[in-house]
Amino acid sequence: LLKISHLSKTFGKNAVLKDIDFTVKKGDVTCIIGASGSGKSTLLRCINLLETPTTGSILFKDRDIMDKNGDPAAYRAQVGMVFQNFNLFNNMNVIENCTVGQTKVLKKSAEEARKKALYYLEKVGMLPYINAKPRQLSGGQKQRVAIARALSMEPVLLLFDEPTSALDPQMVGEVLDVMKRLAKEGLTMIIVTHEMAFARDVSSHVVFMADGVIEEEGSVSEIFYNPKSFVTKEFLSRFM
Ligand code: ATP
Ligand code: MG
Repeated sequence: LLKISHLSKTFGKNAVLKDIDFTVKKGDVTCIIGASGSGKSTLLRCINLLETPTTGSILFKDRDIMDKNGDPAAYRAQVGMVFQNFNLFNNMNVIENCTVGQTKVLKKSAEEARKKALYYLEKVGMLPYINAKPRQLSGGQKQRVAIARALSMEPVLLLFDEPTSALDPQMVGEVLDVMKRLAKEGLTMIIVTHEMAFARDVSSHVVFMADGVIEEEGSVSEIFYNPKSFVTKEFLSRFM
């Protein structure tokens, strides 16, 4: 589904991503772990074109999304993102948050958009709050709305950037549970997370980043129980 080759990103003289290669197949749940500043967010932002990679290619369904003849808008419509700080539209209520992208970007009718939004809001347990404004919700509830909003666009690939790290501890579980359910249903996801127990439970593939490179990647058992690299071992020893 997604094939990243030789991707690098520099800000001025600062090489934040160096020669990244990795592949995501349909249905994969890829967790990206690694220390603060290792380039995880920048990689996600390159994948959904919030940043332009300095070099390298990103193939999506075998098409280069940075190609001159490519259609970045069509690509973006297929790739969703859930942010650490929710990024909800604060002036809109819950249901409007979940319909606006569908009507504006996907050109769906208001009725169809509402139906989809209700379907996904129910999935994340937020049906009772459809008329609430974001400021009336807890962090966990806001994040579940943000997930429903992303799902309402029916993305082929959904990216998460530390979706639980802005939450109070008692709300982390409700968001992780929703994500676990999505993983079971076969949604293709790339998740940047510091929740190691969660990553161990849901990942089909784990990518460990250090200092702008993929230091090591592999299955859960390879990375969590049998890491080869010293840097990986040392990072994981802080969590286990
Ligand atoms: P964290 O776990 O703290 O979120 P991260 O792995 O997501 O860290 P990034 O946010 O990708 O790390 O940042 C990697 C490096 O890139 C950092 O040194 C950061 O200062 C730098 N960086 C990120 N965005 C920019 C930018 N727009 N301009 C300049 N430097 C940037
Ligand atoms: Mg980050």
